[in-house]
Amino acid sequence: GPSRDEVIALRKQYVSPGVITYYKDPLMIVEGKMQYLWDETGRRYLDAFAGIVTVSVGHCHPKVLEKVNAQTGKLQHTTTIYLHPTIGQFAEKLAGEMPEGLSRSYFTNSGSEANEVAILSAREHTGNTDVIALRNGYHGGTSVPMSLTAHGTWKFPSNPSVGVHHALPGYCYRCPFDLEYPSCGLKCAYDVENVIRYQTPGQIACFIGEPIQGVGGTVTPPKEYFQVVYDIVRKHGGICIADEVQGGFGRTGEHYWSHQNYGVVPDGITMAKGMGNGVPLGGFTTTPQISEAMAKRIHFNTFGGNPVSMTQGLATLEVIEEEGIQENARVVGGRLKEGLLELQEKHPLIGDVRGLGLMLGVELVRDRKSKEPANTEAADVMERMKERGVIIGKGGLYGNTLRIKPPMCLTADDADYLVMSLDETLNELSNNT
Ligand code: PMP
Repeated sequence: GPSRDEVIALRKQYVSPGVITYYKDPLMIVEGKMQYLWDETGRRYLDAFAGIVTVSVGHCHPKVLEKVNAQTGKLQHTTTIYLHPTIGQFAEKLAGEMPEGLSRSYFTNSGSEANEVAILSAREHTGNTDVIALRNGYHGGTSVPMSLTAHGTWKFPSNPSVGVHHALPGYCYRCPFDLEYPSCGLKCAYDVENVIRYQTPGQIACFIGEPIQGVGGTVTPPKEYFQVVYDIVRKHGGICIADEVQGGFGRTGEHYWSHQNYGVVPDGITMAKGMGNGVPLGGFTTTPQISEAMAKRIHFNTFGGNPVSMTQGLATLEVIEEEGIQENARVVGGRLKEGLLELQEKHPLIGDVRGLGLMLGVELVRDRKSKEPANTEAADVMERMKERGVIIGKGGLYGNTLRIKPPMCLTADDADYLVMSLDETLNELSNNT
């Protein structure tokens, strides 16, 4: 294959500068197997970011590969205007994992498209336009999802945010009211009522929120947060959509869906990423009644529901079940979180450790009292972790939260290695300053 320098040169000349890379010296990846990646020199890395939380059961998982290779050899593409067996099989399997009442899916190729379909469905179903999303939320890069996203850096000034309003996300570490849970009385959740009252005609199309915010820095609201929000939203005619693009498919360990950690049942779920273990696959699953909204006019997605993605999705869901992937996320994620909490006791840079299962975040601050975001330090930690052979991500409004979201086949040894590497990295960092 081409050398690393050639790859860089071609990318520079022919790929849009809007396509960004991580790291000062971008990492080139040429091979993957389960939770490991290899660069062009043959160096192995522990992948604790899974291609942005997407490789759910492992890179090139043998059972998934076998099934998708057979499908690719037989029929790669036809569209949903013809019948083929895979779409119904996958939709049925997915419905079996859904909360009661949610059974009909519309398949797309990405999380952004899934959210487009969800918002369109909510608007058509209710006849209302206004949508409530959350500060710190990320819902994608196409037009409507970008307007739902509430991070200045991810927004383009020319993209209109028509009918979208942002409420408070239940980010206790940085409470906008400077209160503490539970004596706060969930003021942030009840504030949704004000957002609706003052910024909308009173009737809304929907609320969309990530039960645990991913890009936003693994923000985990208090237990009752979504119960309060969903009740208010429904009172104002809106449906409730859980964006499970990052948190779904067992990642949070205890439950298959991240919203289940909050004791709520949404009216629709959007998903992508881990659903396809690496092929472009997304979807919106909702009730039969709400699903009728998409049948009012003609709407079409050429690649949505294609045989290769459907086959890979089905194989991925089967592996999650057969190999106890969710239980592994719970157990190994729990061990990893314990290790991170121990590091917090030793390293003042760690302000907060959050998350469930294998969806973890470590928020770095320069000072625990002022909570000044340690963003350059977070970037430095990422670089040094790479040097130690561990790939992690970062996020949060200030880019100061490390994100640890590996393929869910991570072992206890991998978890210990990750914690040890972070410990050494943070020691190195404090010795340097
Ligand atoms: N929703 C969430 C919660 C996400 O994290 C992302 C991607 N980071 C998206 C939607 C958009 O997905 P995609 O990049 O596949 O369009």
